[in-house]
Amino acid sequence: MKGMYLVKPGVIVSKDVPLPSLTPNEVLIKVKAVGICGSDIEYFKSGRIGNFVVESPLILGHEVSGEVVDIGRDVTSLRIGDRVALEPGIPCGKCVFCRSGRYNLCPDIRFMGTPPIDGAFREYIAYPETFTYKIPDDLSFEEAALLEPVSVGIHATRRADIQPGDVVAILGAGPIGLVTLQAARIKGAADILVTDLADYRLEIAKALGATNVVNVGKKNPSCLTDYLKACDVVIQTATGLEALAQSFQFVKRGGRIVLVGHLPSSQVPIDPNLLIVEELNLFGSFRYVNTFPIAIKLVSAKLINTKILISKTFSLADLQMAFKYALENSHNYIKI
Ligand SMILES: [Zn+2]
Ligand SMILES: [Zn+2]
Repeated sequence: MKGMYLVKPGVIVSKDVPLPSLTPNEVLIKVKAVGICGSDIEYFKSGRIGNFVVESPLILGHEVSGEVVDIGRDVTSLRIGDRVALEPGIPCGKCVFCRSGRYNLCPDIRFMGTPPIDGAFREYIAYPETFTYKIPDDLSFEEAALLEPVSVGIHATRRADIQPGDVVAILGAGPIGLVTLQAARIKGAADILVTDLADYRLEIAKALGATNVVNVGKKNPSCLTDYLKACDVVIQTATGLEALAQSFQFVKRGGRIVLVGHLPSSQVPIDPNLLIVEELNLFGSFRYVNTFPIAIKLVSAKLINTKILISKTFSLADLQMAFKYALENSHNYIKI
């Protein structure tokens, strides 16, 4: 079978590799659709994200759906022919975090497409039954691949503890911002501001139910002032330090800021006294926990739209081209 390996920054080559063999609890999946994530693009561009460095050829991709073509001896919940989505992280199941239900914090989690674990840009994957979810027939493989970013959005709104009627600002209208917007609406947010630097993305945010959208790269319209120090919740999905500074401008006293998008530096200017005197709550949100079954229900029930996020598709053989397109057109697409 073919696997697409990142061999050095900017270069992906196709290699013939043997079909993976199955352990008793695994299923063999023929990959049907894989989304390109911002983290994949960062690895493609620079070969690293923080302390994660691509040191040997690596298959990227962790937003994946496919079809079961073989099952291990002990598999009971899946059958050949099932259409499935994969949760891309396999936690150890033993540590204190796994045992307390916060397996996204497992230090030994094996996460697809993160060095040194190979990801999904290949023809077949052997995967544990436990993290393989059957999807209904009304979900396309492309929509199902995006259950992964939907999961990130669901988890972020859980961390934000959004309450009915909340005023919410979502900074960044990329794929994560747009699914977080939809998850926030489901949670009952009454007024949602979405900011970004690209009008194309903001138009989609508007179509998905944002109350107001603002291009923060342009002269700010007056509606922005309505949100200053007025938001119960600010969810930062953009990756610039400006967005972090804006989080503190939007959040109201006693409010909650949730950081989802990775920031360029761990040394960010936060005024600790503001946290004290305004009793601000600052949370991180990392990947997700127990979200896939819910994500499947919400997308299937048309409460979350992932189809609208898909801007362009490429064949596996054209993966190099897809990454180049993603790099060169960052303001003109949502998801490839
Ligand atoms: Zn991702
Ligand atoms: Zn663990």
